[in-house]
Amino acid sequence: MMLRLLLADLWALFFPRPCLACHEPLVAGEAHLCTNCRAELPYTDYHLLPPDQNPLARRFWGKIPVRHTLSYLRFLRHGRVQELLHQLKYKGQSQVGSALGQLYGAELAAAGLGQEFDLIVPVPLHRRKLARRGYNQADAFATGLAAALTCPSAAHALRRTEHTASQTRKGRAARWQNVATVFEVAEPKAVAGRRILLVDDVLTTGATLEACGAALLAAGAQTVSIATIAS
Ligand SMILES: [Zn+2]
Repeated sequence: MMLRLLLADLWALFFPRPCLACHEPLVAGEAHLCTNCRAELPYTDYHLLPPDQNPLARRFWGKIPVRHTLSYLRFLRHGRVQELLHQLKYKGQSQVGSALGQLYGAELAAAGLGQEFDLIVPVPLHRRKLARRGYNQADAFATGLAAALTCPSAAHALRRTEHTASQTRKGRAARWQNVATVFEVAEPKAVAGRRILLVDDVLTTGATLEACGAALLAAGAQTVSIATIAS
């Protein structure tokens, strides 16, 4: 054990792993993100606001009831957050998702939200995209959150029913309808009566999360909350 730790330290000394956000070499005690990035990431802190002052919650008003609307970081172009999401989605770095999930989950627990959820459910990826990427980036985030919140996650509670690659060519209304028809609850027993934390990597229009939330509520979920890495 001691020898293995020593070898790991030596390995890290000669081949330091880079920070996933800025690519500077990590030093002892740092994992995934350097201390500088940890300090300077644009945290939303929406979980510390009263619900009526949470700007993200407004996106879902009049659409579906959302108990907690949470997002870890503000999406800023050409910055650390865009780089983290790029690593997560296009560079095979699934540990970005789990690391951010663990960090955020620890913050949520510290803010008293640790007992608010019974089940964590990631937005599913279409199986063709899943095959190409090898993992679902939303599930990577869900896994980290689940570990920090000591709450189970169910990667297959929701599923997609058809491909949505043609979405960008459609108008806004048609796009929503298209999304709304592509999610269904695959595990109704796991969802019924539960307080669900629905998670995705990025919240943009909110249409995908809205469609998933509606499907979960229709299947008998007690409440739906939402958490994303960035918005
Ligand atoms: Zn860094």
